Amino acid sequence: MVTIEVKKIVKALKASDGAGVKLKRSIGTPEADYVDPFLMLDEFGSENKDDYLAGFPPHPHRGIETVTYMLNGEFEHEDSTGSKGNMGPGDIQWMKTGRGIIHSEMPAMSDGKLLGFQLWINMPSSMKMNKPKYEYIKSDQKTKFEDQDKKINLIAGIFENVEGPVKGHNVEPIYFDVELNENKKVNFTVPETHNSFIYLLKGDLKIGSKKHENISDSTLILLEKGSDLEVLANKKSKFLFIAGKPIGEPIARGGPFVMNTKAEILQAIQDYNNGTFAKY
Ligand code: MN
Repeated sequence: MVTIEVKKIVKALKASDGAGVKLKRSIGTPEADYVDPFLMLDEFGSENKDDYLAGFPPHPHRGIETVTYMLNGEFEHEDSTGSKGNMGPGDIQWMKTGRGIIHSEMPAMSDGKLLGFQLWINMPSSMKMNKPKYEYIKSDQKTKFEDQDKKINLIAGIFENVEGPVKGHNVEPIYFDVELNENKKVNFTVPETHNSFIYLLKGDLKIGSKKHENISDSTLILLEKGSDLEVLANKKSKFLFIAGKPIGEPIARGGPFVMNTKAEILQAIQDYNNGTFAKY
């Protein structure tokens, strides 16, 4: 048994993406460039419609998985495989882009609060050129664990005897959305192979057994490897707990493309420009 301790605390940076959607980026920044297999984590949203109405017009991806988790608001999604649908509160879209997908993600709302997360997971070289594949998990398909102290929405991984709907994935992910009441604890069991982190959306947490600096809202907490994680809520808190098995390959980033080499990035740009990118 190895107790998991805090490795690094990273305040999310304000950024914008798409056609100007305001977001807070934590993984994919100079402080946390790549937490193998996780390439990017954005908390997107606002209560002000001017911050999100422009949405994410059509854009390509290659070599990664994008996992979008909506908490408030509604988005419409459309892509080059011909799939189209709406995402509402609690819904998850798990997209394996493989060799290439061109998609748009636009608000299906003209007012109100938008809040959600997008996580990018790297794909190993053996899977980067696969055909794109989607998994949609509607809000009511997530599994839940609930007791007097906490509510856990499971997207992937196992807590107690409850298993999340995403199974058989190469990085053996854990993706939990946790609400923990004041002065209550939760313990997670983590494979020692995995990199893991907590993203505190709101609240105040004590993590592991050692003293660490206070953690404020919208903060990424990178964790050491280990098997046992203990989290205490100093006040009622909402956070994501995410873990995955590292892929251990070199990465080359080119905006929405993540490959192993610079030459493969140039190939992706060439395929996009000559129209062969999204031919399956
Ligand atoms: Mn996208």
